[in-house]
Amino acid sequence: MRQREKRYAMVVDTRPCVACKACVLACKAENAVPDGYCRDWLVEVTEGVFPDLRQENRSERCNHCSRPPCVAACPTGASHVNDGGTVLVTHHKCTGCKACIAACPYGARYVHPDGYVDKCTFCLHRVREGRPPACVEVCPTGTLHFGDLNDPDSEVSVLLKTRRYKVLHPETGCEPNVYFLL
Ligand code: SF4
Ligand code: SF4
Ligand code: SF4
Repeated sequence: MRQREKRYAMVVDTRPCVACKACVLACKAENAVPDGYCRDWLVEVTEGVFPDLRQENRSERCNHCSRPPCVAACPTGASHVNDGGTVLVTHHKCTGCKACIAACPYGARYVHPDGYVDKCTFCLHRVREGRPPACVEVCPTGTLHFGDLNDPDSEVSVLLKTRRYKVLHPETGCEPNVYFLL
């Protein structure tokens, strides 16, 4: 029987996040991200008027878009779609031309000091071993959830069925796969 295709997604609960940045530090350690760069980052937004204020802490990263303009823009095929829709960069194929950086509306990519473009991989090396992404594993507040949206019983599917959520800049048409619970 043919295996059902997976569609990996990250669901970020903006309410329990305390902006401790453990996710950022874990990603740096797991993926040897050089000093001064990051694959994930925190956006802290305060909305409303005192005393009716609401804080939204968002742990952000590449959205692993279903319609990724970075892949379309890459002239060498280095940027590509891999398992579960994960968008990756094959480092040795990347010339560092930055066409993908210009095409990404989310600022999710950076040029590694070694000359290639780098970004979040959804920790596919861990996921293939049945382990969660490093940022998901380390988060002390259970803010980050990762899984297969094509499995209706997965934690991420259930969260999106039962909670209100948004994606960032839906108007881009990129169809992002990182969701923020409100
Ligand atoms: Fe927020 Fe969890 Fe990251 Fe801390 S580790 S900043 S609580 S997402
Ligand atoms: Fe590409 Fe940017 Fe979408 Fe990530 S967020 S898949 S780098 S367009
Ligand atoms: Fe970093 Fe992996 Fe989390 Fe992506 S999934 S932000 S590569 S730790």
